[in-house]
Amino acid sequence: MRKYHAKKLDKEALYPYQPWKITEQEFLINTNHHNEAIFSLGNGYMGLRGTLEEDYPGSEDTTTPGFYINGVYASEKIIYGEEAPNLPQKGQTIVNLADWSEINLYINEEKLNLLKGKIHDYKRELDLKQGLLRRKIIWEDRQGRKIEIKITRLISLSREHIGAIRYQFKAINFSGKISVNSALNGDVRNHHNLREKRALEVIESKTDTNTGHLLHKVKTSNFKVAYVVEHLLDEYSKDNCEISKRSSDNRIDWIFEISAVEGEEYTIDKIVGINHCKEEAENPLSAARASVARASITGFENLVEEQAEFMSGYWQDVDVKIEGAEALQQAFRFNAFHILQAAGKDGQTSVAAKGISGEHYEGHYFWDTESYILPFFAFQRPEVARNLLLYRYNTLDKAKKNADRMRLNGALYPWRTINGEEASGFFMGSTVQYHINADIAYAVNLYYQVSRDQEFMENYGLEILIETARMWLSLGSYIPMRDNKFCFNEVCGPDEYKPGVNNNAYTNYMAKFNLDIAIKMAEIIKDKSPEKYKRVAEKIDLTDNEIDRMREVAEDIYLPYNEELEITPQDDSFLYKNPIEVDNIPEAELPLVKNWHPLIIWRYQVIKQADVLLLMLQLGDQFSRDLKIRNYDYYEPKTTHDSSLSPAIYSILASEIGYKNQSYNYFMQTARLDLDDFNENVYQGVHTACMGGTWLALVQGFAGMRMFNNKLYFHPHLPDGWDKYQFRLRFKGSQIEVTVKENEAKYMLLAGEKVEFKHYDQLVVLEESNLCQELEI
Ligand code: BGC
Repeated sequence: MRKYHAKKLDKEALYPYQPWKITEQEFLINTNHHNEAIFSLGNGYMGLRGTLEEDYPGSEDTTTPGFYINGVYASEKIIYGEEAPNLPQKGQTIVNLADWSEINLYINEEKLNLLKGKIHDYKRELDLKQGLLRRKIIWEDRQGRKIEIKITRLISLSREHIGAIRYQFKAINFSGKISVNSALNGDVRNHHNLREKRALEVIESKTDTNTGHLLHKVKTSNFKVAYVVEHLLDEYSKDNCEISKRSSDNRIDWIFEISAVEGEEYTIDKIVGINHCKEEAENPLSAARASVARASITGFENLVEEQAEFMSGYWQDVDVKIEGAEALQQAFRFNAFHILQAAGKDGQTSVAAKGISGEHYEGHYFWDTESYILPFFAFQRPEVARNLLLYRYNTLDKAKKNADRMRLNGALYPWRTINGEEASGFFMGSTVQYHINADIAYAVNLYYQVSRDQEFMENYGLEILIETARMWLSLGSYIPMRDNKFCFNEVCGPDEYKPGVNNNAYTNYMAKFNLDIAIKMAEIIKDKSPEKYKRVAEKIDLTDNEIDRMREVAEDIYLPYNEELEITPQDDSFLYKNPIEVDNIPEAELPLVKNWHPLIIWRYQVIKQADVLLLMLQLGDQFSRDLKIRNYDYYEPKTTHDSSLSPAIYSILASEIGYKNQSYNYFMQTARLDLDDFNENVYQGVHTACMGGTWLALVQGFAGMRMFNNKLYFHPHLPDGWDKYQFRLRFKGSQIEVTVKENEAKYMLLAGEKVEFKHYDQLVVLEESNLCQELEI
């Protein structure tokens, strides 16, 4: 590990280590911005940043309020510095929607403001076990009146359209007028990317005593969003409360005025329903109304209970238990919670690079989902993985158009997108990364191997595999000067610091994988379900001749190897560039992406993120351990890890080749990247791929789990200083639990009939007569 990276690990923890909680102990302006991302809540459908309910008292550059729906975007024309043919014309940017979380409190006329008066007690905690955000404040205003405020916030995980806030307060040393001003604020704007920051227009607004709604339209797309708010007061509060309302076109305020009695607690619950539609002719209002009506009958306490129940089921499947490393225990749960919050589960949406916790990367989906997040779900919550792949199936037609744009056959998935169309205005960082096709094909196969979901493969997966494979046939060509091998020129592998290169090794190998798996699945389905196969083949004009051509090309693909250095060259030109080591780059110049002109970066043998090393992992059964070691030794000193997708992969490979220290250090950098804000950019939103990478680094790294050709393998070891770790996996309809201790690994069958795998070289079979095995490591 390079000095620059090792140093990050010395950073002081920002939150106390607690197994199930993330706690902010003091309200500070300078921690507000990253807390907004850390404390964001979401459920895959929508996400709310961890802004305060009351008006934020700090400066504008320390806050980015945001409430978003995954997949709801504004679309502006992309403006290029220089035009070229066939560039994408329209962008897609996630829209910051109405803020329904705003609640201000006044003691007489004095408004709660954490920078004025005195804070006697303050705590905000994200309760990972129950899926709730709680805040408790004891505040004294400038007249010496003390009040206790307790706020519980949730975005329901079992009712995707519901968010709710319980707001409770108690006058501690006075009796008198307290007003609570709860708002639905549609007067919001985007903070980044869009030129027209005000992306919304109001279509309808209506207020009743303690309910009301707004209906927005996104100006530059057809999306409409409805927000319905209902307030529920407990009997005691109701009896002592006068409610008034104020509304303008784009904002509704409900004012609850209470003659508060010293020592009495008052409770206001705010239940919010949010729905959207994509089509001009539709209206999402009645659906939002119905969601709120149901949730109001259920009541806040039951919503909390439902949430806890949902989370308990989730933790049953995904909880990783670590003994002897509390910082990591916390990190695992924090990451798993955010991955859940970020993942679209409707087959129409995916996982944005920043989840639903910020505007950065515009709410776009990348290869991050398939390569870093999908395995997490496939092995633990396969139904979510299935939906993520259905999103790709549902956008296959657009991927075909994208291929057409590039004069290619089949489908070319976009590098950055929400709606399935390429949304990047920079082709050197996007379209050139053709490898996304193979990453998606890899994920389709991974999901299928784990789940044995034949129905998925027959109805959706096969089409994706064939259409992505077709793209490779048209992208590559036989190159005489390369022994007439089939080559892919002008591509970019995962390492974005080397775009426009020939024969990126990752790309070539993965393209071959894509072709091989398409052929294999076509054969299996043709054999098992000839009718189904016929239907698909007819639909997409697939002939036996085409399959034969795929086979021929797959065999002819150029697979780079450098005899002199005995390593896998990242691409044709990499080894001929100016060599440089990260340790020799002045720290102030890192990350390079922010400090060096791209042309400077391209001159050097310097890498942004795992590329050859990722290949060594994904297709690890094709490479010897010695080659992996040589590749690691060659590329690691040259890797800046300027992308958060990188350290996890180095950690896994380091584990495999026995570089235990390095594997641990890279693991640490992955696991707590957001919690400790190593890259000082979590305020922009959490790094979902890195969170998925954390799980990979434990399961594939420390436990050495691999799945090749339908078979599961483990090579577990226990990192120094840990007492034990444990996780659960689903495999072919069964569930197993793996526990690793100092000298022993224990495998237990929890559900299902039988699981077979290898522990090192030993074949292990878990079945009813032999549910559990303890084996030496
Ligand atoms: C990385 C890409 C990644 C994107 C979104 C970039 O910095 O280089 O690999 O897909 O971020 O996370």
